Amino acid sequence: MNKKSLYSFNLKELESYLVDNGFSKFNADQIFQWVYKKFCFDPALWSNISKKLKEHLNQHIDLSVPKIIWNACSFDGTRKFLIQFNDNNSVETVLIPAKERLTLCISSQVGCAIGCTFCHTGTMGLKRNLKTEEIIGQFLAVSRFMLDQDDSFKNISNIVYMGQGEPLHNFTNVKKSAYLFMEPRALALGQRKITLSTSGLVPQIEKFEEFPPVNVAISLHAAHDDIRSELMPINQIYDLKRLFKAIKSIPLKAHRFITYEYILIEGLNDRMEDVEGLVNLLVKKESKINIIPFNEYPQSKFKRPSDEKIRWFKNELLKRGIVTTVRVTKGPDILAACGQLKSEVEKPNLWS
Ligand code: SF4
Repeated sequence: MNKKSLYSFNLKELESYLVDNGFSKFNADQIFQWVYKKFCFDPALWSNISKKLKEHLNQHIDLSVPKIIWNACSFDGTRKFLIQFNDNNSVETVLIPAKERLTLCISSQVGCAIGCTFCHTGTMGLKRNLKTEEIIGQFLAVSRFMLDQDDSFKNISNIVYMGQGEPLHNFTNVKKSAYLFMEPRALALGQRKITLSTSGLVPQIEKFEEFPPVNVAISLHAAHDDIRSELMPINQIYDLKRLFKAIKSIPLKAHRFITYEYILIEGLNDRMEDVEGLVNLLVKKESKINIIPFNEYPQSKFKRPSDEKIRWFKNELLKRGIVTTVRVTKGPDILAACGQLKSEVEKPNLWS
């Protein structure tokens, strides 16, 4: 029989499990301290845990974290990991350092069913959903790895569900993982430190009030249905009208924004009519556009616009009162940027 993973329990569930098995509820807190605060996954080292409880855990609970089977560090400090699970499936996870934060871009599925035509992951198809413990496990494995490199390593401060997969396609497990990331006795991240990105799965967006109030990013990428359908086949089912009707139902706290991710592609969605289309679609005071200049990958059919064109597009939106930023491409030399993730790593020569 498969053992249940320790990282699938929230604090209350672990407390109940321990009490049901004759242990103290306070042991749950001690175990959480070891795994989520010290990233120590070997019960032999848990000095305040009884021998009897260690034996019970070893026998009945899976304490293993996913394995890092490959990693590479870019010249800009971005580090990409290939992480393998018990069934040998693997995903990519990317650690992105910035001035005042350290962000982990995590995957929610092995592959992805959405099939966006600009995305490397989309070429794989969907293999399976990740379990809660496999989503949390990416954070744990990377934290342990980084601590082993450098014991002054500062904790990961932000999570973005923007790796492989459509997070809302795996709604239940992603939701539980978000609660664990926020659980004060576990990883204790603030709700504003977590961003969930979706391609626009309308029925799940309509259930957003069930989700913890994390930041929301919508992968928009086009302001016209014909172009969006070309880039994102999901638009043929949930077109812009249905998408924006669903977005209106997202409970937004005061002064919070919805971020619209917009991959800028030369000659396709970088024209004046695209600027005007965006202005017509978005509610200015609640919207922020994050332009992502297209990251080319082997065999990609789209091109990145010139820097001049990127600046022009951004300025036209700003002139029309829409908060707009341009995302700096991270880890381009290791294919770690948006839309470039895949489960088989093409190792660039530099990083062999
Ligand atoms: S962009 Fe996101 S939703 Fe689209 S295919 Fe890639 S991983 Fe899936």
